Amino acid sequence: MNNAALMQRDLQVLWHPCTQMKDHETLPLIPIRRGKGVWLEDFDGNRYIDAISSWWVNLFGHANPRINARITAQLERLEHVLLAGFSHEPAIELAERLVRITPPGLERCFFADNGSSAVEVALKMSFHYWRNLGQKRKTRFVTLGNSYHGETLGALAVGDVALYKQTYEPLLLQPLTVPSPDCFEREPGVSWEEHSRRMFDAMEEALARHADEVCAVIVEPLVQCAGNMRMYHPVYLRLLREACDRYGVHLIADEIAVGFGRTGTLFACEQAGISPDLLCLSKGLTGGYLPLSVVLTKERIYQAFYDDYERLTAFLHSHSYTGNPIGCAAALATLEIFDSEPVIERNRETAKRMGEAVEHLREHPHVGEIRQTGMILAIEMVREKDSKTPYPWQERRGLRVYRHALSQGALLRPLGNVIYFMPPYVIEPAEIQALARIAEEGIQLATRD
Ligand SMILES: *Cc1c(COP(=O)(O)O)cnc(C)c1O
Repeated sequence: MNNAALMQRDLQVLWHPCTQMKDHETLPLIPIRRGKGVWLEDFDGNRYIDAISSWWVNLFGHANPRINARITAQLERLEHVLLAGFSHEPAIELAERLVRITPPGLERCFFADNGSSAVEVALKMSFHYWRNLGQKRKTRFVTLGNSYHGETLGALAVGDVALYKQTYEPLLLQPLTVPSPDCFEREPGVSWEEHSRRMFDAMEEALARHADEVCAVIVEPLVQCAGNMRMYHPVYLRLLREACDRYGVHLIADEIAVGFGRTGTLFACEQAGISPDLLCLSKGLTGGYLPLSVVLTKERIYQAFYDDYERLTAFLHSHSYTGNPIGCAAALATLEIFDSEPVIERNRETAKRMGEAVEHLREHPHVGEIRQTGMILAIEMVREKDSKTPYPWQERRGLRVYRHALSQGALLRPLGNVIYFMPPYVIEPAEIQALARIAEEGIQLATRD
């Protein structure tokens, strides 16, 4: 089997995610035969550095021996059992560990099976909590401009990326959308902290006006990943936590993309010293192996559902594969790696190296900004540097970078005009240098006309 043969078979029967399938009339589809560490290998024997962790899920490399071993052992014991009325060791142990390592006060774990489902759980749980307390006016959510929380209808509704959302608008809940604290938009000379602080005024105002009808504010802490890797200062989260308490509104932290060390701390909320009322985790939870997600919440929220059955206050939400034992085993192996190796410290070095490798690109006439939060580094291409005028999206300049990167042995998948590195944590210095070179060449090619 080679790439071409598999591509031909694939295009007869598959419909790929987030893809205009017509693109594949000219864009090769890449069938992957195997993965090892940061490397992916296709059926023609070409190798690619997975610079985006296969959509932000992989932490410790493909075919990681420790995770493989734990999954294999679990397979011999129990592949799956329902989690209603029944339980299993991997789910119990994982919940115990998650309660221990997440910000203080999060003491209950509700499992689901992907990120969007976790967001649905958090939204329903918050709404239902207020209902159980008799607060029936609370039916709305506050979200940030440019945010992303997944693709199912509830999660899509509280997101704000037009490309994914606009078409479905007639089907969606109507959240209150507050301008993002995104620091790309700051005035020259204004610090990240000052900009994020100023942007909080709009949130304060929205809460002051609408708190009595609002269940929760949902945010992606520090980095709006799908929203072109836009970043903001932790001060915003501190102000938000304080305001949510003052106005009697939940804070939902969606750390599906930024959790598990991506931003330089195990969880992004730590950098603001806050605990949310509900915390959504997925993606890196299983080290990039299997679909699993979890919502952690406070005992106070759990207790509002705890009553006699006839009162119908229970949270009757479920997914078939909720808390799947093999997924939990992969998650336990992942957490054991965090326990036994200095991952966060090592990432600090790796992150620094990534920043240094692209530092010289700041001067490039079509680089509007290079920004970084921990292990997420983004380079924003612009038509005009001083005004940060974007290239029209129709020109698809990021796609040129994508094609070039593939030809040079890297999987870089820009978001619009933003090229980013979000690699597995096991990336080596030489591989970082290779990515920096490939990104630079890609930017040259993509911006020369
Ligand atoms: C990816 C993502 C989701 C959705 O997770 P899926 O597993 O793709 O459904 C939700 N929120 C954020 C911040 C994400 O990055």
